[in-house]
Amino acid sequence: MTEQSHGPVRFDKSFTAQQPLPEASVQAAMRLLQSGRLHRYEDFAEGESPVAALERGFAEWAGSRYCVALSSGGQALQIALRAAGVRPGARVLTNGFTLAPVPGAIAALGAEAVLIETGADLRPDLADIARKAAASGARVLVLSHMRGHMPDMDRVSALCAELGLTLIEDAAHTMGATWKGRQSGTFGLAGCYSTQSYKHMNSGEGGLLISDDAEFTARATILSGSYMNYGRHGAGPGEEAFAQARYEMPNCSARMDALRATLLLGQLEGLSRDVARWQALHAAAFGALSRIGALTIPAPLPGEQPVGASIQFLVPEDWDDATCRAFRDACRARGVQLAWFGADRPEGFTSRFDSWRYLPPQDLPRTRAVLARLFDMRLPLTFTPADCDTIATILADEARRAAPVPHQGALSA
Ligand SMILES: *Cc1c(COP(=O)(O)O)cnc(C)c1O
Repeated sequence: MTEQSHGPVRFDKSFTAQQPLPEASVQAAMRLLQSGRLHRYEDFAEGESPVAALERGFAEWAGSRYCVALSSGGQALQIALRAAGVRPGARVLTNGFTLAPVPGAIAALGAEAVLIETGADLRPDLADIARKAAASGARVLVLSHMRGHMPDMDRVSALCAELGLTLIEDAAHTMGATWKGRQSGTFGLAGCYSTQSYKHMNSGEGGLLISDDAEFTARATILSGSYMNYGRHGAGPGEEAFAQARYEMPNCSARMDALRATLLLGQLEGLSRDVARWQALHAAAFGALSRIGALTIPAPLPGEQPVGASIQFLVPEDWDDATCRAFRDACRARGVQLAWFGADRPEGFTSRFDSWRYLPPQDLPRTRAVLARLFDMRLPLTFTPADCDTIATILADEARRAAPVPHQGALSA
């Protein structure tokens, strides 16, 4: 069915096309632009700054007491680490499989990332966390729910309590995802989100930091560059929480501006609906790709409810690098854009841990073996479940062509 008379099936939608912003965002942004009041601490005629309103709305949506809106997800991580007391030279545990802003935030503090192995389920190896916490003396764990895969959060919480680790969640890929009904980002001291265009809400760039801890949030607020305007934050702690922070924390100027907050406020109303649409789209992609024998797709854990804005799959172990590259290129030629995590040179968002040369070299043989066979495909909300069938037809074809010999092991892995 794939080779039709007019040539092989092609997919012609863009993997990077965003939804248009909701009309409410566009209208409110126009009014804001006409007023010229773009800084978060302007005097807003109608009362509260849109940034403060966003902080209030997002904290409530995420099930957290406090929220600070920032200029990027990377800055949310950096400020969270600093507010958590991480000092230059300190060791910080984090996933070996994550996006570059995570080790980047740790490096920006002059701290040292200690990388944790990732299993074929794409989740960090909890035994490796215990081992490396003991060996390194690290007191902080930045747990990155990379590509939306959350580990067993009951076990993570118990492990952190047992080892005395402060948990900071990188929830950039899990906005709205839950573990046994509880939102990701709320399990530790802080949760960090990104609102850049390829995440669940889109303001071009942006970050949100949530916490239930008043003094931590006070420190983060001063760090964000509040010029002592902390009384004008929407979901901030009271004056008493700032007694020390206002003198001890440097101003790192990473505020969110009113325009981005306005764009996000208009999206917050529909966020739960978008989360449900992503879950449906991911389920469709999961179903369609699961029928391709050569591909192994890490499944959610019981108790986990992810929000897949992308899908990942592993190809058989005997596919070498050249086969992986040829498969990716053949899919791309038919309109299916895949990212491959096995490339030696960092490409797009897929940099591998060994290309973060600003870290002390660390070998992660299991992570390296997983990444060598790992592919990633974006699922923008401009796709429909039917699109997933077209994509699966192309992937099935090209997988067959890449390695025509049947792979017994790959079916059951
Ligand atoms: C996007 C992202 C971040 C933060 O990215 P910014 O571009 O700084 O907003 C952090 N962690 C992960 C896993 C991400 O994908």
